[in-house]
Amino acid sequence: MSDLLTLMPEGLYCPQAGAYVDPVRPVEKAIVTHGHADHARAGHGAVLATRQTLDIMAIRYGTDFCGTSQEIAYGAQIKVGDVDVSLHPAGHVLGSAQVLLSAPAGRTVVSGDYKRHADPTCAPFELVPCDTFVTEATFGLPVFRHPPAHREIAKLLSSLDLFAEQTHLVGAYALGKAQRIIGELRAAGYEKTIYLHGALEKLTGYYHSQGIALGSVEPVGQRGKELRGEIVLCPPGQLSDRWARRFGDPVTAMASGWMRVRARARQRGAELPLIVSDHADWDDLCRTILETGAERIWVTHGAEEALVHWCEMNGRNARPLNMIGYDDGEDPDAARDRAELM
Ligand SMILES: [Zn+2]
Ligand SMILES: [Zn+2]
Repeated sequence: MSDLLTLMPEGLYCPQAGAYVDPVRPVEKAIVTHGHADHARAGHGAVLATRQTLDIMAIRYGTDFCGTSQEIAYGAQIKVGDVDVSLHPAGHVLGSAQVLLSAPAGRTVVSGDYKRHADPTCAPFELVPCDTFVTEATFGLPVFRHPPAHREIAKLLSSLDLFAEQTHLVGAYALGKAQRIIGELRAAGYEKTIYLHGALEKLTGYYHSQGIALGSVEPVGQRGKELRGEIVLCPPGQLSDRWARRFGDPVTAMASGWMRVRARARQRGAELPLIVSDHADWDDLCRTILETGAERIWVTHGAEEALVHWCEMNGRNARPLNMIGYDDGEDPDAARDRAELM
């Protein structure tokens, strides 16, 4: 087991740094990997994170979300207690980082959430060699193989061709997924204005302010049936809400790695499931574990047992962390859906 990290009720703790990584309860000193609510919580004494993660936390929780904050750029190294700490792109959402803790005892990487697939809205995942690798396992079952995003976007665009008189309503999480869908649509050559539910405006505006090219984006406002033939993005919960009725008879789509699971698509009210995920799929989890060269693998939030078993078959020392409080980027149904697949 790594000497650098230990598991506490508050989360992963590094005694030599006196700091937690993504603690699930308020602590004195936290290093935060990214802005999703299961990793970034309000109320810590001090927070160390990338500039963008700090900004996103301030947008979500207000500027007083912690006592003091310190930004650290990707690749820069600082001393925290007796440990050298640096942050490296995780490819998950804007500002997302893996945390590298190095000390004479070895190198430990806490990856937070990560993906290897290209994403036009954030820096690409950087492979960080280490001795101990803490990996997520949100989609840690062999059935989860994410198709390339452009193929799913092509499905959306061909539906728009076919049902040109209907609004296409796409459910997407507010941080990361909504902006990625816009970016992928632009990459596919879609140039028309894309409309947003109010709950997606702030973070999309922040991405725009950070130089992420999203093209013409407008709030839905009071509009409804006049958005026939247009693409409208909204939080997943709004797909089956009264709010959706303003568009008459929209085509409902949902962008999530969980759309691989038919029952989930039905339950979400998504006629057009789009398998677009910001998490590594099974192949990329396994590949990343091998590529880090780590001998010790700690597995968090997700299908831990399957990945732990795979690690052991491949000669790695693996441990499920069974931590309470993490989930799939704020999706409360994730654990239940995964359980159905096991
Ligand atoms: Zn997570
Ligand atoms: Zn996340």
